[in-house]
Amino acid sequence: MEKPKVNYDKLFIEELEKIKKSGVKPTLLLHVCCGPCFTYPYTLLKDYFDITIFYNNSNIFPESEYHRRLNELKAYLFSIGVNVPIVEIAYNYNDFVLDLLPYSTQKEGQDRCRLCFEKRLSQAFAFAQENGFDYCGTVMSISRFKNSQILNQIGLDLAKNSSKTKWLTADFKKNGGYEKSLEMVKECKMYFQKYCGCQFSIRPEVKPAK
Ligand code: SF4
Repeated sequence: MEKPKVNYDKLFIEELEKIKKSGVKPTLLLHVCCGPCFTYPYTLLKDYFDITIFYNNSNIFPESEYHRRLNELKAYLFSIGVNVPIVEIAYNYNDFVLDLLPYSTQKEGQDRCRLCFEKRLSQAFAFAQENGFDYCGTVMSISRFKNSQILNQIGLDLAKNSSKTKWLTADFKKNGGYEKSLEMVKECKMYFQKYCGCQFSIRPEVKPAK
């Protein structure tokens, strides 16, 4: 029997309420995959958290595309006049992709993506724990191609034995979040990639950055 779906958006709102009542702004290590996915989630988070961005996206192919997405994110931060620190993890697609190879022919959203989420989020969570962050989370649930049940379950499992760092449950695509992020991308003329990241997600009609 399929597990009942958890309303992670409701849990997110409840968590924000708790934070508001506490009167303290906790630290959040926020995994960000690209500028477009950061836009709308940031508007929801910025008043509640002291945010540090974690950019560990060695799933992106080729390297030029990885840098293009990172540069777009930096340009966006500059354009809205905020100085959010970014922790960048060295790019290493060749190592990252090894675990994904057995699933290369799968469509997006299956075991390959679960593994890809696990690899990036476990690295983010370990960094958050080592550096004493109150929360760790990701913006990836903004995408309608990313399963929020899987993303949040991975995060909650990572946080099970953590005494300090909590997983920030969220489902940013809810309440028209995905559409709002598209509007914001359009408004600021941000580059919006046509594929998720790995070489297996590139459709024939899509050309990655040179
Ligand atoms: S399609 Fe995206 S989430 Fe899935 S494995 Fe490739 S890069 Fe990772």
